[in-house]
Amino acid sequence: MQLHYDTETEAFRAELREWMEEHLPSAEDRHERIVSSAHIPEWARIWQRALFDAGWLVPGWPPEYGGRNATPVQQMVYFEELARIGVPRSCNPQGLSIITPSILDHGTEQQKERFALPTLRAEISWCLGMSEPNAGSDLAAVRTRAQLDGDHFVVNGQKVWTSGAHHSDYCFCFVRSDPDAPKHAGISVLIVDMKTPGIETRPIAELTDREHADFNEVFFTDVIVPAENLVGELHHGWAVAGSSLAHERGMLWISESTNLERMLQRVMATATTALPGGRRLDDDPMFRDTVARAYVQSQALRLLGYRGFSKFAKGEASPEHSVLKLLGSELRRGLALDVGEALGAEGTDLDRHEAPSVGRGDAEAWLIHWLQSFSGTIAGGTSEIQRNIIAERVLGLPRR
Ligand SMILES: Cc1cc2nc3c(=O)[nH]c(=O)nc-3n(C[C@H](O)[C@H](O)[C@H](O)COP(=O)(O)OP(=O)(O)OC[C@H]3O[C@@H](n4cnc5c(N)ncnc54)[C@H](O)[C@@H]3O)c2cc1C
Repeated sequence: MQLHYDTETEAFRAELREWMEEHLPSAEDRHERIVSSAHIPEWARIWQRALFDAGWLVPGWPPEYGGRNATPVQQMVYFEELARIGVPRSCNPQGLSIITPSILDHGTEQQKERFALPTLRAEISWCLGMSEPNAGSDLAAVRTRAQLDGDHFVVNGQKVWTSGAHHSDYCFCFVRSDPDAPKHAGISVLIVDMKTPGIETRPIAELTDREHADFNEVFFTDVIVPAENLVGELHHGWAVAGSSLAHERGMLWISESTNLERMLQRVMATATTALPGGRRLDDDPMFRDTVARAYVQSQALRLLGYRGFSKFAKGEASPEHSVLKLLGSELRRGLALDVGEALGAEGTDLDRHEAPSVGRGDAEAWLIHWLQSFSGTIAGGTSEIQRNIIAERVLGLPRR
């Protein structure tokens, strides 16, 4: 079997590559670090704006929203190319990939103009206020209260794990607007200006980067939000949540395999670099087996992604999605542990803050990389939740 794209699709790829060769910011331009998922350095702003103007930011969307009405297969090729260059199209992924499409799906024309377009042009950044101390996997349990009072809401409550809240301009905030309605029925979504009095963000120190926290606790005390900032209908926020989470899954078809493939490149760089004392991991046949197995798994993920994507593009149910999320994140965590174990003492320097980047061996940083690898098994639905979905919706097992 030979898998390939048709000539027209390859022409699309060639056009994209040519454009990227001309516009991609150089490594030198990218010297200003991305320190949070809502921090947009100047080079990233310029890059995203160029993508938007050229219709390469979200190719599947219409030109007025930074696209070119690309077909689903062309979008797949687009994500392959993005993965190949390794430079993100946006430094505020939640703003671009979850919140903007939700505003386009459910927002008013005024909200699209005021919030979606500036986000696409990298002028504003967002945080996503879903999780709370007692509402994570069970998002419908949100308790942050929003009371409608004439032309505004009064918001009180707390969010947690809010990525980038301390750098963001706005929060896409899930609130309980009707405490008496059944759990899923009394939720609304508000756009909250993060500069409003009564909002306090408290960054949560992270093991993997003690200088630059991305997570926050966010506290709301009598925060006034204009009623015009309600997204979708009052008390119908669950429908917005459904489409937000669906948009979050958009890139998964290809990203799980490319993430593992990129990680394998790092593993190879570490394995072929002499450690103190001259030992090399690739001298060890057991370790070579580990790498070979991970490579086979990455290719299985790629094919599974293509299969799921092809069903998705035809409008069919594509349960491969949950399998990809589960397998991809768990394989990365397992591989990071395998490398750490093979390195032994050489892999345990806690003073290293950065995980190794592609092309660098960096044995010492693998501990950080392993610690980071847990986040993939939690964000966007934990591994246990994916297993529940697979059991119930794919295998048809009875609900617990
Ligand atoms: C990197 C990262 C970025 C994040 N960014 C954001 C963000 O920007 N905004 C935001 O709102 N949230 C964010 N989160 C939070 C994330 O959405 C939640 O952590 C996730 O939904 C799980 O919720 P929880 O942490 O409350 O765990 P809980 O839901 O309390 O789960 C605790 C444990 O119980 C298990 N469990 C729960 N329910 C079940 C069940 N029914 N069956 C079996 N096991 C179950 C879980 O798998 C988990 O192991 C982020 C998380 C990470 C890791």
